Amino acid sequence: MKRLLLIHTGGTIAMAQNRAGHVLPNEINPLDASLPRATDIADITTKHFSNLPSPHITPDIMLELAHFIKDELNHGYDGVVITHGTDTLEETAYFLQLTVGAPVPVVLTGAMRSSNEVGSDGEFNLITALRVATSDAAKGKGVLVVFNGEIHSAFNVTKTHTSSVDTFKSVHFGNLGMVTKDHVYLFNTPLLMKTHMIERLTKRVAVLKVYAGMEADLLLAVEQLGYDGLVLEVFGQGNVPPSIVEAIKRLTKIMPVIIVSRCFNGIVQDVYGYEGGGQQLKELGVIFSNGLNSQKARLKLMVELEIESGHEALEASFRVE
Ligand code: ASP
Repeated sequence: MKRLLLIHTGGTIAMAQNRAGHVLPNEINPLDASLPRATDIADITTKHFSNLPSPHITPDIMLELAHFIKDELNHGYDGVVITHGTDTLEETAYFLQLTVGAPVPVVLTGAMRSSNEVGSDGEFNLITALRVATSDAAKGKGVLVVFNGEIHSAFNVTKTHTSSVDTFKSVHFGNLGMVTKDHVYLFNTPLLMKTHMIERLTKRVAVLKVYAGMEADLLLAVEQLGYDGLVLEVFGQGNVPPSIVEAIKRLTKIMPVIIVSRCFNGIVQDVYGYEGGGQQLKELGVIFSNGLNSQKARLKLMVELEIESGHEALEASFRVE
């Protein structure tokens, strides 16, 4: 029987609803009661890493978790399942993808409905994630997110609905697979899986969303506040209002400026030649990202800045190929 490590970090999957209808962390993780139903799946060792709502998870905690997993993998586990709040689950999943480089499946899951709510999805998602983590087909697929019977890559997945149990979706490149009552099906393998473990996070990266008629003041504040990098969520294929071009020009001289699209599908390119268009941004030294959303591009830039590989290598690391 395979040996799995189950790491709890908190989130709705570890919570319960009180009489007033508010959802709160529980002292005892309700998933402990689900484990007897998983004894035929694997030999499971449980670690309670934290009991945090995922809005309380920081990049430093993600790094601590990455090191924790790396250390635990020395004990010869065949796979790892991590339970996590859904709000920042995609960020932790992608951070682990960037850093851990595990030889066995690493799977994250969570729940949209807490343990005592009607239609609670925690136990189903946990059992499904454990099954995926024992699957040989899940090896070499990078960090996975398993939710509502679907298997997603950490690179691609994003939370798309505030309350539906069918919230996690893979944009651009599609799901990696699905789980049925009897089988784990994996159809695709992600290619963008370079990993690099880091010791600490010392750089601050801001994220700003571009909007019609945006003024330059917020961009200039990024410099004044001493940030080390900026991720800009820009229009469509990669364009900004002319009113912020000068500020972008100024920022590119002192820090990496990465652009991602406000559209949740598609990749930014230097298609347009008008003022504020992608062509001008490229000439200014802006780095075009490969379909990551802004919250993941921020984490990637934070990790890349620790590696300090220079502008060209940084640009290459954000390319699609
Ligand atoms: N707010 C919760 C959290 O991320 C949502 C969830 O877990 O579904 O912790």
